[in-house]
Amino acid sequence: MTSYMKYWPITLSFLPAQAMALYPFMLFKTKNVQTDERIIRHEQIHFRQQLEMLIIFFYIVYLLNYLSNLARFKNHNKAYYHISFEREAYKNDNDRLYLKKRKSFAWVKMI
Ligand SMILES: [Zn+2]
Repeated sequence: MTSYMKYWPITLSFLPAQAMALYPFMLFKTKNVQTDERIIRHEQIHFRQQLEMLIIFFYIVYLLNYLSNLARFKNHNKAYYHISFEREAYKNDNDRLYLKKRKSFAWVKMI
C-alpha cells in the first residue's frame, strides 16, 4: 500500500464511469466501488500518469489520443481502450506490485 498516493474519495451517482481519477480526487459512482482494489489500482496508475504529465498535459494527450483512435476505429469503445494511458492501466491493474516497479512514462511504450 505504500506505493499508493493519498486521495480524496468522492461519490457522484451521475458519474459516467464506475470510477475516475482527477488528481487529487478519486471519483466513484457508488460507495461499494470505493473498496474495489482493482479499480483503485487502476485509478492510482492514472494518478501517476497525471503527475508525470503535470496534470494538464495528461488531459490534452488523453483527448488527442482518443480522437485519433476514434478517427481510426470509428468506435467509441475501441477508441477508449486503445488510449495508451488506458492500455497501461488495464494491463496492470491486477498486479498489486505494479506501482512499486513501474517506470516513469510507462504508457509511452503502449502508443
Ligand atoms: Zn482508466
